[in-house]
Amino acid sequence: MQSSSIKDLNDLCGVDRLVHIFLDLISYNTQACNDSAMIPSSAGQLRLGAHILAMLQDLHLQATQTKEGVIICKVEASKGYENAKHLCLLAHLDTACDCSGENIKASLVKNYKGEGIKLANGLILDHSISFNLQKHVGDDIIVTDGSTLLGADDKAGISILLLLLENLVTSDIKHGPLTIVFSVDEEIGKSCNYIDVQALNCDFAVTIDGTALGELDIATFNAMSAKLKVKGKSIHTAVAYKKMINANDVLVEFLNNLPYDQRAQTTLGLEGFYHVVSMQSNMQEANAYILLRDFDKDKLIERQQFLEQLKTVFNSRYKDCIDITYTMQYENMAKVLQANPQIVDLCKKAYEQAKVEVIENYVRGGTDGSNLSNRGLPCPNIFTGALNCHGPYECLIVQAFHKAYDVVLNLVQNVAVTTKG
Ligand SMILES: [Zn+2]
Repeated sequence: MQSSSIKDLNDLCGVDRLVHIFLDLISYNTQACNDSAMIPSSAGQLRLGAHILAMLQDLHLQATQTKEGVIICKVEASKGYENAKHLCLLAHLDTACDCSGENIKASLVKNYKGEGIKLANGLILDHSISFNLQKHVGDDIIVTDGSTLLGADDKAGISILLLLLENLVTSDIKHGPLTIVFSVDEEIGKSCNYIDVQALNCDFAVTIDGTALGELDIATFNAMSAKLKVKGKSIHTAVAYKKMINANDVLVEFLNNLPYDQRAQTTLGLEGFYHVVSMQSNMQEANAYILLRDFDKDKLIERQQFLEQLKTVFNSRYKDCIDITYTMQYENMAKVLQANPQIVDLCKKAYEQAKVEVIENYVRGGTDGSNLSNRGLPCPNIFTGALNCHGPYECLIVQAFHKAYDVVLNLVQNVAVTTKG
């Protein structure tokens, strides 16, 4: 069993600028909040945004924070590269709702030996959590203390973009026109509502929001959410016979009709699913929040139709007690990228130059690129080196993190050189 050290991380932080930036960013709690009426959904995102804005202004870059909290930074092209294609790079400020992002205590596993890693609170991170760990024997890994997530999703992406901007300002790296976007509320599927694709005026984009070394995300789920409400009929239990409609019972009965072999925990690869995220229920009223996911758009619609058929059955059984509202969250980016292959080809070349093997990946989730691609801005997703995101086992492979930086830097230069005309 291997353990981690805070001192080793502090030592690395002193000599590794990318890690230094990352540790600064994860000191801000930017957990998104599903039930918030605020935009963005948490104040921490605004605070981190303001901090980043100040960093960009220190670099004399032209950057603004929109009223929704999105940071947009415009970088003029190097001389002679003004006509190159306009690349947009994005990462998101928020962290997942599933796990606390407050008071993150990171530490470093130096020279990973391939055995289990004992986190400070006793949790064991090993290959049963992530088979990818085995590929990183000899690497250094930033881990949590087991009580929070790490925030590498997506502060690793933000760190890469901030270091890129620092290096563009202080060196003569050739680049075309660039727009860097730090989005908000990606984890609750709202980020693209606050991004005006037309106003960005870019030719293509890349999100730095992936996970394992080498992955290049070129397809995502189609995603819909369903809010299900059951109205009960409350009657004293003494005289409830054939009169009471117990909303608790109806909700449980309804959810039991979702096929168990089509849940997140029972599906893999290209299979879609139903996922019950939350329930609040009492006898009078019961609510459930359900995610519908499928790579095939027609199959996603079939999932919606299945819920509607169940609703019809239940409403005739229990006197119109069920109502469902649906929201389309994002669409698969694959078709858009197949029709606009240039940005994917430029990414692949950047991987090759960084000596990173390309692993084309179908994401069982979404990225900002899912929406952006379908709104006219083709946008694949690049790895960051983070693993096991959204929970206490989240970790960041330092060497992969640096490779991700190299890939992004190569990409920026490739776009400039290849498309300057
Ligand atoms: Zn992310």
